[in-house]
Amino acid sequence: MTPDFEAQLRAVSLRVTRPRLAVLAALRDHPHVDTETVISLVRADLPAVSHQAVYDVLRALTNAGLVRRIEPAGATARYETRVGDNHHHVVCRSCGAIADVDCVVGHSPCLTASNDHGFAVDEAEVVFWGTCPDCAAEHTAHEPPVGRK
Ligand SMILES: [Zn+2]
Ligand SMILES: [Zn+2]
Repeated sequence: MTPDFEAQLRAVSLRVTRPRLAVLAALRDHPHVDTETVISLVRADLPAVSHQAVYDVLRALTNAGLVRRIEPAGATARYETRVGDNHHHVVCRSCGAIADVDCVVGHSPCLTASNDHGFAVDEAEVVFWGTCPDCAAEHTAHEPPVGRK
């Protein structure tokens, strides 16, 4: 299923431009990549596009809600086109790999804070940290299986 990026842009009153379409396509095919990766992916299609243009596109798409920006503690910001479902992420402590994790408790989890201090809460961010399968395999290949902290 190919999302209709042109319709998505029009729906949020953004002009349809080739860099915007290229960024959306890059993020659809490569979720959770950082800005530098987006730039190189977009340049495969549009060699002349500048760093600044890609930054601007990412900011516009994020502000419009077409792209979700995730920023795990200590990692560079990543972007994805899977928005609006409040899914979570699992992040590898070793290599920074990120994967999607569907809601654990159903729709809009954790939005009912035990004490919201009067805030109107609209988002709850849950990040699972661990070791990805690749890093775990590398670990066992190169090191004796000693206990980790
Ligand atoms: Zn890893
Ligand atoms: Zn995601």
